[in-house]
Amino acid sequence: DLVVVGSANADLVVGVERRPGAGETVLGSDLAVHPGGKGANQAVAAARLGARTALVGRVGDDAHGRLLTASLTDAGVDTAALRVGGAPTGVALITVDPSGDNSIVVSPGANSRLTPEDVRASADLLRSAAVVSTLLEVPVETVAEVARIAAAPGGPRLVLNPSPPRELPREVLAACDPLVLNEHEARVLGATAAGRGAAEELLRLGARSVVVTLGADGAVVADASGTAHVPSVKVDAVDTTGAGDAFTAALAWRLGAGAALREAAAYAARVGAVAVTRAGAQESYPTAAEVSA
Ligand code: ADP
Repeated sequence: DLVVVGSANADLVVGVERRPGAGETVLGSDLAVHPGGKGANQAVAAARLGARTALVGRVGDDAHGRLLTASLTDAGVDTAALRVGGAPTGVALITVDPSGDNSIVVSPGANSRLTPEDVRASADLLRSAAVVSTLLEVPVETVAEVARIAAAPGGPRLVLNPSPPRELPREVLAACDPLVLNEHEARVLGATAAGRGAAEELLRLGARSVVVTLGADGAVVADASGTAHVPSVKVDAVDTTGAGDAFTAALAWRLGAGAALREAAAYAARVGAVAVTRAGAQESYPTAAEVSA
């Protein structure tokens, strides 16, 4: 069983010939609205694989919030701890040009109002989970409260994807088992080396275990027993949006089911590979049967 504490955003996407500069107005395609946000993405990815999954988060009392709640419910995610109100639902305003380059403005909205008290109100739910997965699209004090619950005796295992990246309080880093991040995020957290070296540096900085994802090159896993490379699966990538979220969710679910870190990362790499062969984020996530096939 997996509990995700994290963000839910509506992604508002418009295709444009050219992204606008200062003071400029351009006309674009019809608006597409997609459910997104790293927390909701992870919860949907895990539920689609077959994990019993709940999302602790916050959306606004508005149409975007209802869209997100519906997409989570359709995937089988328990939304009883998804709070409603306090600010508009988070949105990402995305313009994409014909070459695929984008410009994005994120309004965190309700995600920024998810408080440590909200987490404490769901403490029993968190303690009942094998694994709790979180990320930095909600306030760092809120993540710190999740880490405290995880670090207490009998607490769940903590998986943290530090995205968007920022320096972490020492006690948060010390609760991560694993920290799951790409090389860019690893640099912001203080790693100077790439790949294997970055994973080992973050382990020395205090994480209990580390998984560095390397896109088409797979991932590196490091813990007290050593460091190993997990290969990716060769696929024709179509759209990598949300692949990292699918990877993290799959990893967290397999760890909760008792898999070793390497084994869980190998499974997560297969899930990430399927996700990049399909367009979109949540729309691209496979079932366990599709991963086996
Ligand atoms: P992020 O999107 O967070 O930067 P990555 O790009 O490292 O994350 O992707 C996460 C995981 O998804 C990778 O570790 C890998 O397993 C899988 N993946 C991503 N891109 C590809 C690809 N082109 N081919 C195969 N697998 C991929």
